[in-house]
Amino acid sequence: MNLGVLGCGVIGLTTAIELQKEFPNAQVSIIADRFNEDTTSYVAAGIFRPGTSFMGPSIDITQKWITDAFNYWDDIRKTSDAPLAGVCQLSGYIFSTTSPSIVRNHFIEKLLPVYRQATEEELTLCHGGWKYGSFFTTVLTATSEYLPYATKKFLAAGGKIKEQKVTSFFDIEEKFDVLVNCTGMGAKELCQDQQLVPIRGQVLKIRAPWIKMAFYGDYDTYIIPSFNGVTLGGCRQFDSYNTEVCKYDSLAIRERCYGMLPSLKKAEIVREAVGLRPHRSIVRVESEFKQTPAGRTMKIVHNYGHGGYGVTTAPGTALHAVKLVRDVLSSSNMSKL
Ligand SMILES: Cc1cc2nc3c(=O)[nH]c(=O)nc-3n(C[C@H](O)[C@H](O)[C@H](O)COP(=O)(O)OP(=O)(O)OC[C@H]3O[C@@H](n4cnc5c(N)ncnc54)[C@H](O)[C@@H]3O)c2cc1C
Repeated sequence: MNLGVLGCGVIGLTTAIELQKEFPNAQVSIIADRFNEDTTSYVAAGIFRPGTSFMGPSIDITQKWITDAFNYWDDIRKTSDAPLAGVCQLSGYIFSTTSPSIVRNHFIEKLLPVYRQATEEELTLCHGGWKYGSFFTTVLTATSEYLPYATKKFLAAGGKIKEQKVTSFFDIEEKFDVLVNCTGMGAKELCQDQQLVPIRGQVLKIRAPWIKMAFYGDYDTYIIPSFNGVTLGGCRQFDSYNTEVCKYDSLAIRERCYGMLPSLKKAEIVREAVGLRPHRSIVRVESEFKQTPAGRTMKIVHNYGHGGYGVTTAPGTALHAVKLVRDVLSSSNMSKL
């Protein structure tokens, strides 16, 4: 059996590894035109914290994706592979001056080992005159480590990787029994999906080994320590396709983060990066059968549109996509009887 995955970001790689586990006798191949540091996945801070607006086809399915994903990352954290995969535990605060609802999160309040209201004393831990706050302990997946780790794991299990820009699903020469489409923003053109919108983000990666806690403030301000530095962010620019670093965004991010923690002014800026979050109001994990011009039926399972939460939720939607692959394969076998 031949299974294909289109896309080699956090969604494609996690899905490909799960396909290998579920179908150990299948040949699994990845096709993509961008890898590692050239993907959106590489830009992510990688913290496990779904936004409250993140949505799958139903509330129950969305919660299942999030629960499965947390358990997946947390299981890796407990193994000796954790440092190779870039997975660690991380605690932090989310603060706001505007509304108590901003510091609540119905998806993770019962899921994370700790999610509680911040004390009055904790509200003064960093500058900002905070009125509301929560403290939580979560996991972080540093994609700078995870993407190469997952690639090695996939290849070691017999996976194949091909570099190719695909302009139409019908460009693909390989005759896959099922193809999983994990193309992130690429799906906009491939699927003519008008619901998929970029939400542009910009971050600074700095060296500040004294920062051990994550901090979120109002207006998309965040300070997130990771394996090789700290991510300062950010911005969310709806429908912007600008992939260049903007000096005004950079200034605004620095002013807001330095305002919260002045010690950051002493940190060396290692790099600045921009990514287009592939936002879809409902993340698309569903199967589709397409008729090729040659009259063959192409079986596709889509897995894209994770917006600002693709690292958080990758394992959850990957497990769902793998289940859909199994359903598609068994329905094909039924129709041959
Ligand atoms: C600034 C910023 C911070 C973020 N922080 C976090 C965070 O802390 N936590 C979190 O959970 N998420 C975060 N995210 C979101 C996260 O990065 C995305 O949700 C995730 O990377 C999406 O992964 P993906 O695999 O779908 O897309 P990508 O990483 O973009 O990968 C898409 C893949 O598809 C391939 N592809 C696309 N089109 C084609 C084509 N036509 N032919 C061949 N190949 C194709 C590409 O080459 C690539 O390999 C952040 C994003 C940004 C921008």
